[in-house]
Amino acid sequence: MSRTRYVYFFGDGKAEGTVDMREIIGGKGANLADMTSIGLPVPPGFTISTEACAYYSDNDGAYPKGLREEILEHLDRLEKVMGAKLGDTENPLLVSVRSGAASSMPGMMDTVLNLGMTPDSAQALAKKTNNERFAWDSYRRFMQMFGDVVMGVPHDDFEAALQAVKTERKRALDTDLTTEDLLEVIDRYRKIYHDVVGEDFPTDPIDQLFKSINAVFDSWNNERAIKYRQMNDIRGLVGTAVNIQAMVYGNMGDTSGTGVAFTRDPSDGENIFYGEYLMNAQGEDVVAGIRTPEPIETLKSVNEKAYNQLLEIRTLLEKHYKDMQDIEFTIQEGTLYMLQTRNGKRTVFSWLRSQVEMVEEGLIDKKTAVSRVPAGEFNKLFAPVLDNEQIHAKGIKEVARGLNASPGGASGQIYFSADKAEEMAALGQDVILTRIETSPEDIGGMAVAKGILTTRGGMTSHAAVVARGMGCPCVSGAGDLQIDYESGTLSVNGQSVKEGDFISLDGFTGQVFLEKIAVKESEIVQVLNGQMKEEDSLLFQNYNKFMGYVDEIRQMEVRTNADTPHDTKMAVALGAQGIGLCRTEHMFFGTERILSMRKMILANNKIEREKALAELLPMQRQDFIEIFEALNGLPATVRLLDPPLHEFLPNDHTSRHEMALQLGVTVEEIAQKTSQLHEFNPMLGFRGCRLAVVYPEILHMQVRAIIEAAIEVKAKGIEVHPEIMIPLVSHYKEFEYTKKHALDTIEKVFEEKKTTIEYKIGTMIEVPRAAITADEIAKSAEFFSFGTNDLTQMGCGFSRDDAAIFLGPYVEDTDKGFYDYDPFEVMDFDGVGKMVKMAVDLGRSTNPDIALGICGEHGGDPKTVAFCQEIGLDYVSCSPFRVPVARLAAAQAVIK
Ligand code: ADP
Ligand code: MG
Ligand code: MG
Repeated sequence: MSRTRYVYFFGDGKAEGTVDMREIIGGKGANLADMTSIGLPVPPGFTISTEACAYYSDNDGAYPKGLREEILEHLDRLEKVMGAKLGDTENPLLVSVRSGAASSMPGMMDTVLNLGMTPDSAQALAKKTNNERFAWDSYRRFMQMFGDVVMGVPHDDFEAALQAVKTERKRALDTDLTTEDLLEVIDRYRKIYHDVVGEDFPTDPIDQLFKSINAVFDSWNNERAIKYRQMNDIRGLVGTAVNIQAMVYGNMGDTSGTGVAFTRDPSDGENIFYGEYLMNAQGEDVVAGIRTPEPIETLKSVNEKAYNQLLEIRTLLEKHYKDMQDIEFTIQEGTLYMLQTRNGKRTVFSWLRSQVEMVEEGLIDKKTAVSRVPAGEFNKLFAPVLDNEQIHAKGIKEVARGLNASPGGASGQIYFSADKAEEMAALGQDVILTRIETSPEDIGGMAVAKGILTTRGGMTSHAAVVARGMGCPCVSGAGDLQIDYESGTLSVNGQSVKEGDFISLDGFTGQVFLEKIAVKESEIVQVLNGQMKEEDSLLFQNYNKFMGYVDEIRQMEVRTNADTPHDTKMAVALGAQGIGLCRTEHMFFGTERILSMRKMILANNKIEREKALAELLPMQRQDFIEIFEALNGLPATVRLLDPPLHEFLPNDHTSRHEMALQLGVTVEEIAQKTSQLHEFNPMLGFRGCRLAVVYPEILHMQVRAIIEAAIEVKAKGIEVHPEIMIPLVSHYKEFEYTKKHALDTIEKVFEEKKTTIEYKIGTMIEVPRAAITADEIAKSAEFFSFGTNDLTQMGCGFSRDDAAIFLGPYVEDTDKGFYDYDPFEVMDFDGVGKMVKMAVDLGRSTNPDIALGICGEHGGDPKTVAFCQEIGLDYVSCSPFRVPVARLAAAQAVIK
């Protein structure tokens, strides 16, 4: 029986690991092996596998059998290749001990440089290189890194000692320190180390080595690394690999140096060599900000040969990996060494440009380009952005952080009520609507706001959902902030602003600032709105090309959730192929409409109710006319009235008084009606099709408005495809009952208008009972649209409005993690998804032609979109600004 192998060697143009072994030897190890194999100058070394790390983590720090010996054998081999020995007093070998998991987690885990240093070997090194300063600088660096990373001596203690010597001896830079100075620093480091650790700094290199390997293993599970994996959705990896690699020295003097570079610009994707370096420096000096690094172009004048070699390597690596690379290199006395390459992290702007240009350069095909661009970040392309340069230049500090509920930057004057926000926006102010939480009544204020801030509520709170729908930047649930509606102030940690003061939000990060910051609108949106010419925006041109690739691959349709002509037009410009959910209730909140709506609710009998509905009919019809026109031939699924009626009634005394005056009724009557409508569980209450079952006249009015509007628009020569959707059906008899009423009305309208149009009638599947009995419902329904917000609420038994309090721990706590993601953001595939799949299969079993789509918030989530492709849905529907994301995700789902 062969035992598991844990260590892989690379060096001298040959490597035991290969590029496709990332899972086992990590990304860094795989690419070091690969670069070695293709002949690049990589210092030799060996990689300990992630499986060894997994064993170590699972067994309280014990090694699997034979690992220690295997490491020592490979060290022996490395020493032979290098002709030098760890801890030797004539020709000492120094190594780095570097972490590296399968997915890159830059800076999250630990690295130790110059390992093997002892006072004796430092002296030997000084003698051999004839460079005393370099030897003691390396020793000093090793003490600091080993002390900090491996033994937990505070980094700041070392830094303070170093600074003290620099100050005492009037040395401005680290590089100004002489050998004498360095020896003094080392002396102080020894004391610091002894004080904290309680023993002397180790002088046995093998001891140093194994302590460092263990520290790298341990760093896999440090808090930073765990958090990073969570935030970046890195799952299923067993541990980090450890790379032991012969040191090359960038700190040997002015002909040595170290640097990092990207083969293209990581912020905008331009095809230029982009990087920085420092001469006479090592490792992290470039990123640590100790000295200001030089731009890579200037290396040409310092060492033209190395610079040209880097340019060649840049081209070679891009050809080899077929993607933008992020490289790390060191120059030792004029000779270039490669220490790392990996696919570069970049902004979504850089993703877009680099992938489109690589397709045009013939480096990759369209499918590859589409598969790589991260769908989860795609909507950042459309959001306005806060001017970061200004934030840095003025040193503006965040005062609080909430959830990054809807992306984009916003800056404006703060108002605490929707009415006031509307009033001030009408005067031309940029307003930030700030509420403890929002409700449908606030819609007017939200529509005019440049940004929305709430102190309560999660990613699917009303504010978050509506803001995302509008493409309005939003920070929700910023719980550190205190709002006092009475005095009109917002306060946090002793600072406060009052109504009309400037604040700024960053919906990308959740940051809140109490200052005015300049905001720039996305160029893509400017072109789509006609404010900018296509030829003036490279970003737009690349976006357009890229979406062309996406649509060639995509199979599912993408529709939008929209209920105004404005949103509809925007969504169509963003590529929506119709409306998948038009919510009619939002149309009833306008000033005149709400009055008629309230009359309807207060009505004591059918006649009064019909009278109020008759007032609503022309307004509702006009809404549909405008939406059908905006769609210009694309289909629209219109959902009949869904929310419980009490949402349309005011709940404070002043507004009730106002309403009583307007309608000529008493305040008592209103109060009475309100308490009559009160429900303990409104989400399970008198809403959805239940309204139409009890008051069919509401349905009659809405269906009439839809059909009359369709006939009118068709008469203008514009195609119309209305689809009437009955919400919250749980029993097929409910559907058949309401459908019959709809059909009666439609027949009536056809007779009156002496014409017909094509239409569909279907239902939302959002109650578990409906999903389970989908075969019965499908016999008479022409389409199903999965309302997965309610289906999750009722399927998991989680109230959408209150679940945040326990869902946080359920999802995020490492000892729980019952759900991988918030089930309101990413569909719970094993539970809710199972119901959806069941309904799909049952539905098609009795009605093979039934059209199937999804219209919950999940419709814009890339993981859910992939699931929808897998179970064979015909379309997904999402808010306008998520349409491009959904298109991309749908294409990626085909490639997978
Ligand atoms: P990270 O994963 O955080 O990037 P690395 O393992 O890449 O950490 O190490 C950080 C830096 O240390 C490298 O960029 C390189 O400059 C330096 N370094 C690592 N190994 C060596 C080596 N063998 N010789 C010289 N410098 C090294
Ligand atoms: Mg690195
Ligand atoms: Mg619903």
